[in-house]
Amino acid sequence: MIWMENELKLMADASLERSLHISSPVSGSPGYTLRGEQVLLNLSSNDYLGLSQHPAILEVMREALLTEGAGSGASRHVTGNRASYSRLEEALADWQNCEAALVLANGYMANSGVISALVGRGDVVFSDQLNHASIVDGIVLSRAEHARYRHNDMEHLRTLLDKYRDKRRKLIVTDAVFSMDGDQAPLRELAALKREYGAMLMMDEAHSGGIYGGRGEGLSHELGLQDDVDIHMGTFSKSFGVYGAYICGSRMLIRWLVNKARPLIYSTALPPSIVAGITKALVLVQEEHWRRERLCAASRLFRSLLCDAGFNIGAGDSPIVPLIVGDNDLALRFSRALEEEGILAVAIRPPTVPDGTARIRFSLSAVHSDKELTHAAVRIHNIGLRLGVLRS
Ligand code: PMP
Repeated sequence: MIWMENELKLMADASLERSLHISSPVSGSPGYTLRGEQVLLNLSSNDYLGLSQHPAILEVMREALLTEGAGSGASRHVTGNRASYSRLEEALADWQNCEAALVLANGYMANSGVISALVGRGDVVFSDQLNHASIVDGIVLSRAEHARYRHNDMEHLRTLLDKYRDKRRKLIVTDAVFSMDGDQAPLRELAALKREYGAMLMMDEAHSGGIYGGRGEGLSHELGLQDDVDIHMGTFSKSFGVYGAYICGSRMLIRWLVNKARPLIYSTALPPSIVAGITKALVLVQEEHWRRERLCAASRLFRSLLCDAGFNIGAGDSPIVPLIVGDNDLALRFSRALEEEGILAVAIRPPTVPDGTARIRFSLSAVHSDKELTHAAVRIHNIGLRLGVLRS
């Protein structure tokens, strides 16, 4: 296996090797994390609404664990399908104002399993160049043609839709909010193109569910375009603070997926305690509007502080704030300097982002206060000057 050693060395030399670090929650302080001995302000979590330590969620999970056991014991088609699944799916369909819903083990499985259930050889998937890896893997798995369009470039998408006009089935798929850039997909234009070319439209609301829409339904609802989306996908691992994923759409779609989505058929059902936690989180996501409002205010403040300092933070308005530095090694040094100053914000490097766009990806939470964010911005500014990312 000498090839592996050689490849790893190349990776390390290019500042591209990754390794695992231990982060532990700090009881009672959801905005912080423990790394080694150090308590750090956690600006790298997707716990957008601060629900991961919510007592009501923990309570129902504990109860389900004691009454229903640790694991579900089988896939949903065998004996793993508890009544709590159906109740959750009814509540999800109601929340999304769709006919039906399906719960899957996680977002990765939802994207990879659903795309490969919808299209196959002879079909085509039009996918934004910056879509999440689980979407890309779903396309590869499906064996459909992969037509990648330049990020949010609707002219390019149209050119590709023309080119592949004669394919059997067409699917357009996009992140609603892009995970590494924090900007939004042009949903109105996507909906118009989908109608013009007779394609299906799938939206991944992993980073918009819980955040946009009157009841946290996501970006398509915020824009009033939910009926143009055929396949709504979202996760319970971010705003919901738990784990798992959903697909919402027509009754026919869900019936199809129950028969064709391999991660549903060939993998064990989520543990009942997780389903109980999601069900409680769904109530809180809809009812506790103050969390969304606080998150929006925090995002506005933090973005304006970094922008005023002169950083390149891209074009979004979401709680994902990329501070683009370009060079891989510089991104690592920036992240290490932040850690020394008490802030956890990880460096994101290729292949997660395109070459030459390494960055610090900040992600904010409703639990962060203005004071914490303002102090953090001062420290980020100073490090930016020290490392030459900013000019004084
Ligand atoms: N889609 C997007 C846009 C994501 O960012 C992620 C998680 N990083 C996923 C899907 C996968 O979700 P999960 O973590 O639930 O597997």
